[in-house]
Amino acid sequence: MVNIILFGPPGSGKGTQSDKIVEKYGLVHLSTGNLLRQEIAAKTPLGLEAKNFMDKGQLVPDEVVIGMIDSCLEKHAASKGFLFDGFPRTGAQAQALDKLLSLKKTGISRVLALEVSEEELVKRLLKRGETSDRSDDTNESIIRNRYNVYKKETEPVASYYAEADKLERIKGEGSVDDIFEALSASLEGEIDDATNDRN
Ligand code: ADP
Repeated sequence: MVNIILFGPPGSGKGTQSDKIVEKYGLVHLSTGNLLRQEIAAKTPLGLEAKNFMDKGQLVPDEVVIGMIDSCLEKHAASKGFLFDGFPRTGAQAQALDKLLSLKKTGISRVLALEVSEEELVKRLLKRGETSDRSDDTNESIIRNRYNVYKKETEPVASYYAEADKLERIKGEGSVDDIFEALSASLEGEIDDATNDRN
C-alpha cells in the first residue's frame, strides 16, 4: 500500500488537489470533512454531535474522527492505498493513524503540505462560501477561528512527519494545474500512476 497525507490549512486546496491525485494514482480518497458532512446530511447522532463543533470552526473530538477513519480503512482493506485529506489534524490523530496503519503492516509514505498565506486563505474561503452550502465558509470570524485552530493544533503535526523525513512543502498558490504538477513530481518514484497499473 502507498498512503499519502495531503496537509495544509483550511482553504489551501486540499479537496481540489485530492480529486486529481486519487484519479491519477488510483488511491481511495479519505476526507474527514466530507465524511462528517455526509453524517450531518444523514442526520446521524455522530453528525449531529459533529455539527456543533464544525459550525463554530472548532475541531471535532479526536475519538469521533479516529473511529470514522478506522471503519473506512476496514471498508477499503484491499485498496492500493489511501489519500488522507484533512486528517490527521492533531498529534493524537497522527499517532492513532500510525497505529491503525501498522496493524495493517503499512504506514505513511509521504506528507505533502500545501502552503498558502492567511489573507489568501480567508479570501478563498469567503468566495467558496458564496456558492457552497457550507455554513462554516460564510462568516469571517469563524474562518479566522479555523485558521487559528490550524496554527495551534494542526500545524505542529507537520514536525512529527518532518522528523520521520516524510514531509514535503509545496507552494499552494498559483494555478491548480501547476500545483498539481508540483505534487505529482513529489510523488514520482513513490507510486505508479493508475494507467501504469492497467498496462
Ligand atoms: P477545511 O479544511 O476547509 O476546514 P474540512 O472539510 O477539512 O474543511 O473540515 C471542515 C470541519 O470539519 C473542520 O473545521 C472541523 O470542524 C471538522 N473536521 C474535519 N476533519 C477533522 C479532523 N481530522 N479532526 C477534527 N475535526 C475535523
